[in-house]
Amino acid sequence: MILPTSLAAFCVTHPLLSETATLALMRRSPEPEDWRSLLRGRRPPVRFVHEKATCPLCRQPTYDMGAWWPVAGPATHNRFWHACCVQTWRNWTAYSDLGGYLSARQNWKCAISGEPLQIIRERQIDQPDGTTEMMATRYATRIEIDHRIPLWQVRAEAESHRWPDILRYWGPSNLQVLLPAMHVAKTKQEAADRARARVAA
Ligand SMILES: [Zn+2]
Ligand SMILES: [Zn+2]
Repeated sequence: MILPTSLAAFCVTHPLLSETATLALMRRSPEPEDWRSLLRGRRPPVRFVHEKATCPLCRQPTYDMGAWWPVAGPATHNRFWHACCVQTWRNWTAYSDLGGYLSARQNWKCAISGEPLQIIRERQIDQPDGTTEMMATRYATRIEIDHRIPLWQVRAEAESHRWPDILRYWGPSNLQVLLPAMHVAKTKQEAADRARARVAA
């Protein structure tokens, strides 16, 4: 049996699994008729529904302590949320916390240029016995998190997306880590694409 606190910790380190669990729960609830009208700005098109004994994100029932999966998560806004739903909402909206996870997934290399996201400096350390040893220190470079497929494009193509799968575009499968210069270049390209899409529309 996994206790709620360790389940919450598990969800932090397994963002994709958390998201899959949340989407599976959402699929069991009725599809919000007007979810496309909630596609504004950078926020995922979700409206919290506050009912007794259901999770505001997925609208599925609460679970007794001791259930294995899904199980009670920490209360957010003084309400019951599933542990996976707490984490998934965080990852959709406060994705900067995923920097370490995403960087590790990319083997600590920028997703566009392939340049390292870490600088390694080696120093010679004199040992008491007269020998020397090399010591490596790792410095993190500045990283930026980018939506591989930009959210404006997801919004523009909303008609072709299905509920609740569209929400994955806010999550780890559509996120990548870039070096700042690469992000600037990609953003410029995206702005040009967007302007062209507007003219064509
Ligand atoms: Zn939930
Ligand atoms: Zn970006």
